[in-house]
Amino acid sequence: MPVTIALDVGGTHMRAAVFPENEISPCFQTRIRTYSEDESSLDRLMRLISEVVPDGEPLHAIGIAVPGPIDPHNGVILTAPNLQEWVGLPIVQMIREKFGVPAALGNDANLAALGEWRFGAGQGHHHLIYLTISTGIGGGVICDDQLLLGYKGLAGELGHVTILPNGPICSCGQPGHLEAVASGPGIAAYVAEQLQAGQPSTLAENPDAKTISQAALQGDLLALEAFQRAGHYLGLAIANYLMIFNPSIIILGGGVSQTGDLLLDPIRETVNEAVLSDHYKEDLIITLAALGDDAGLYGALALARDLFQER
Ligand SMILES: [Zn+2]
Repeated sequence: MPVTIALDVGGTHMRAAVFPENEISPCFQTRIRTYSEDESSLDRLMRLISEVVPDGEPLHAIGIAVPGPIDPHNGVILTAPNLQEWVGLPIVQMIREKFGVPAALGNDANLAALGEWRFGAGQGHHHLIYLTISTGIGGGVICDDQLLLGYKGLAGELGHVTILPNGPICSCGQPGHLEAVASGPGIAAYVAEQLQAGQPSTLAENPDAKTISQAALQGDLLALEAFQRAGHYLGLAIANYLMIFNPSIIILGGGVSQTGDLLLDPIRETVNEAVLSDHYKEDLIITLAALGDDAGLYGALALARDLFQER
């Protein structure tokens, strides 16, 4: 039976999954470390693909999700955080030449949006926003039944919108981006600052976001305030997305979103207050992602299947 291969490349691991035609469960999947001492990460990726290409079965297409800015129109990785040697890498052409099948590339957060739309929490919607909140904040937009790519393919950087002018410096170097304020490290930095200023709390010095969420569930006031604050700024950003894209569903993924109502309540509260009119909120769903860490992989699958069908 013909198969499609989906790949998700991260800073620590690369994953590959093989999906038979029309199936949504992989018949085979595996993962390897991105780095090793004796082999380049690009060689490792190519070997990973060779190992999962099935013997004697037709291969339709290969889809690949990578972090960071890419050019999806030309299949080139521009720069990839944690993958420093992959700068200006024409990965799609390389895969196409080596394996003789169509290939396509997407930003991992964009593809996670595509994955949640086709196979996860966003099924049946035509206008969707996906936001992943973990070490960073990434996102993707489905607009009129299409993944929004933009002129250079750089659309959907929903974590790098300015939400707090003169606020904390983001991982990208700019001040006050949503990611700097409401990501796991952003929440942790706020708590560390408040502890240093002498705010009473059960938390010890420099807690991470997970420890803070546990303390919040136990009723620690500083921890509760930290999530309230992060939720508020996420809510402001989401209200902005509502007015720009008018989606019917907002899907939240990533480790920090696992805190559930701790974050969702202040998000909903702020969204309610900050939108232009009630029409944006009519039938609006704000919900948690369904595919977890697999969202990017499923997005790569959707991308590859679309590519094959378009031919
Ligand atoms: Zn930023």
